[in-house]
Amino acid sequence: MVVILYYSILLILIANFIIERWLDYLNTTKWSSVLPEELKGIYNEEKYLKSMDYEKAKHNFSIISESLGFLTIFTLFASGSFGWLDGLIRSRVDNPIFVTLIFFASMALITEFLSFPFKWYDTFVIEEKFGFNKTTKTLFLADQFKGLVIGAIIGGVILYLITWIYLITGALFWLYALGVIAIFSVFMLLFYSNIIVPLFNKQTPLPDGELKEAITAFSLKAGFLLDNIFVIDGSKRSTKANAYFTGLGSKKRIVLYDTLIKELTTSEIVAVLAHEIGHYKKRHVYSGLFFSLITTAIMLYIFALVSRNTAFAEVLGSKVPAFHLSIISFGILYTPLSLIFGLLLNFLSRRNEYQADHFAAEKYGPEHLASALKNLSVSNLSNLTPHPIYVFFHYSHPTLLQRLKKLAEIK
Ligand SMILES: [Zn+2]
Repeated sequence: MVVILYYSILLILIANFIIERWLDYLNTTKWSSVLPEELKGIYNEEKYLKSMDYEKAKHNFSIISESLGFLTIFTLFASGSFGWLDGLIRSRVDNPIFVTLIFFASMALITEFLSFPFKWYDTFVIEEKFGFNKTTKTLFLADQFKGLVIGAIIGGVILYLITWIYLITGALFWLYALGVIAIFSVFMLLFYSNIIVPLFNKQTPLPDGELKEAITAFSLKAGFLLDNIFVIDGSKRSTKANAYFTGLGSKKRIVLYDTLIKELTTSEIVAVLAHEIGHYKKRHVYSGLFFSLITTAIMLYIFALVSRNTAFAEVLGSKVPAFHLSIISFGILYTPLSLIFGLLLNFLSRRNEYQADHFAAEKYGPEHLASALKNLSVSNLSNLTPHPIYVFFHYSHPTLLQRLKKLAEIK
């Protein structure tokens, strides 16, 4: 059993790495040194070449960072380091819940330490070079620190609860754990914008003026309260523009980046807002929550069935079974299924984007949204010619050309 598990884990780690590199490679086959015919009217020659340079820089960077990430996990696994770390903690701590908490805290610190130089390079070299970065080094360090503290508090509480449930329950572990995760997910949807976002950004009501008037007129017509529309100071980190819809019930809100407001015309901003209201009208937050709880339930159920087998600890080099060791081995073995769920999730998300686009086009006119999407793609130097297979695997949004084609059909 242990031998089968060992080779299955090795195989899955290697296969996953190869698939991801193959998908990356597929994208490179779409690179061109001249402006492709289908992008004329969106990119000019100069901007297109700049977007290619940006794409190449990110591609090379991801080959290096992903390869090192793969080598790290591979080495940790093959050398039995997970079991060794477990033994080390166990020799000093008796309480099994604290063993698990310290184990994951160590993992998180190691991950943070190893990924730090890559995040730094990405922000201060790549994003900086292409004129996107606005993050100061102080802000960057503060963000990392806050992220770690918040992760420790939230992750610590959830992990404590779930480990405790694992230790006192049996076959029904999955159901109780699912309950905890469901309550936490709903809580986060309700209060994320009030508790977490303010630690990183300022959210303010729309300033008075022409834009506010246009938005008021549209949101009245569409049945969305102006009180739930906010502007966020995204410009303190990046020039890239964005907008999103989040929250449940009375806690719903649409957040527009100040960079979006700076970049687009009034009618384009209203079109983006209309798209976000479309997400609300089509209840995409609820379907997203439902999908994520279903996939979590499936994962927890399978985990509860198999995880108490001592082989899950032995394969990592430990003689003693432990919740955290089972999570590591199971987590890797589960990769193929999570890949399939990821595909499904992206598929549903792309369908939701089309629905939101459709809503915006019907209520406000497709030409405004089309023009907003084009401008955003150009200012964010988006890759407009990704490989279709790459899109199928990784894109949560349809490509610009796909969206424009659908919008043209509405016209
Ligand atoms: Zn959307």
